[in-house]
Amino acid sequence: MQDKKEKENILMEKIVSLCKRRGFVFSGSEIYGGLAGTWDLGHFGVALVNNIKQSWWKKFVDSRRDMYGIDAAILMRQEVWQNAGHVANFADPMVECEKCKEKFRTDQLESKDKCASCGGKLIEAKKFNMMFQTRVGASDDSSAVSYLRPETAQGMFVNFKNTVDAFHPKLPFGMAQIGKAFRNEITPRDFIFRVREFEQMEIEYFVRKEDWEKYFEYWREEMLDWMEEVGIDMNKVHEIEIGDGDRAHYSSRTIDFEFEFPFGQKELFGIAYRTDFDLKNHKLDYVDEEKGEKIIPHVIEPTFGVGRALLTILLSAYNEEGEGDEARSYLKFKPSIAPVICAVSPLLKNKPELVEYANTKVFAPLKAEFGRVVWDDNGNIGKRYRRQDEIGTPFCIVIDFDTLTDDAVTVRDRDTGKQERVKVSNLKNYIQEKIS
Ligand code: ATP
Repeated sequence: MQDKKEKENILMEKIVSLCKRRGFVFSGSEIYGGLAGTWDLGHFGVALVNNIKQSWWKKFVDSRRDMYGIDAAILMRQEVWQNAGHVANFADPMVECEKCKEKFRTDQLESKDKCASCGGKLIEAKKFNMMFQTRVGASDDSSAVSYLRPETAQGMFVNFKNTVDAFHPKLPFGMAQIGKAFRNEITPRDFIFRVREFEQMEIEYFVRKEDWEKYFEYWREEMLDWMEEVGIDMNKVHEIEIGDGDRAHYSSRTIDFEFEFPFGQKELFGIAYRTDFDLKNHKLDYVDEEKGEKIIPHVIEPTFGVGRALLTILLSAYNEEGEGDEARSYLKFKPSIAPVICAVSPLLKNKPELVEYANTKVFAPLKAEFGRVVWDDNGNIGKRYRRQDEIGTPFCIVIDFDTLTDDAVTVRDRDTGKQERVKVSNLKNYIQEKIS
């Protein structure tokens, strides 16, 4: 009998290998041996991530009246990070192995005194700031120092005044941003879970001080709604209240949404009450017309990591069934986020009349309508189904000899394996109905 840990390791190996084999995720700089903490998205990875981001943007920006989008520069003046407290505080306490010199984050240790690599003694090491430092321009002067942003949040705070001046929003209102963030993690690990370059989807929601608890609760629920909407297994999501002393330097209340990953229950997303910490530090305020006074709004921050969303959605969607020749693994993505909605296949690729029909009457119109449509004529039909199952394609459409006379195709459902005959004239509607 395999023990639980072994099974979970095997599951992670299967996911990592599927991601590479099917073109979702590759390791960064792979042909040169890889660069720790970096991963590249392949064709289907980009498609899935775009769908995740679009679904987030649609729910939290496009369908609301009180949210303003922003796309700020990654490089910002060093004063942003000094005043935000990151230059002094964005550091993790570390320990170092006396023998092999490997460094570990104190909060991620399995054993407090023994090195996980060589068993040597662990000793205190100095704090390590996780921001990547760089220089802007040719000058050697210290004023040229800048940092790759470790969170997208500051890009919103520094544009608070611009947004208020341009749109005159009434409280409460929010700003939303999707973008890259960089952290020089001491020990990047667990595939795309802990990396050095990643994307965040963040909201800064500005409220009156007395309303913070109400909106904290509101956003907590909105976050849960979205997780369910994109197909995260909610039975594996747990809310953890972060205690005093363990929260980030800017937060007065934080809830982490943790997920049961195969490598342990770890943070997926979070929600923080940032008080007026950031606006105050940047010397920003707001004229509250209702009250006729200048105030500093308080901030609720729901934050989501794109990579962690991707990994969690992959793990939630992964299924295996059958044995021997019948065995298959498939990704049960919601059709709204699946990288491919349907694959179009002529039964035989060496029969020009089938290929011609499949191409002009099925593939071209579906491609024009849905975009996320692929042509698959490689190998026998069984192999094509297995391949599309692993990509998570909800529908495989096969054009056979009957099609030429009855203008109907076979549509095979990914999850049940059931096949249905559908008239070509009705295909668009059929698929539209299934995915909406
Ligand atoms: P952790 O405790 O895991 O280091 P954190 O509490 O520092 O995470 P936040 O600062 O709250 O994370 O960042 C917001 C979100 O960004 C996280 O909930 C997570 O989804 C994502 N994130 C943070 N650090 C990383 C990383 N190194 N790799 C991938 N995603 C990350």
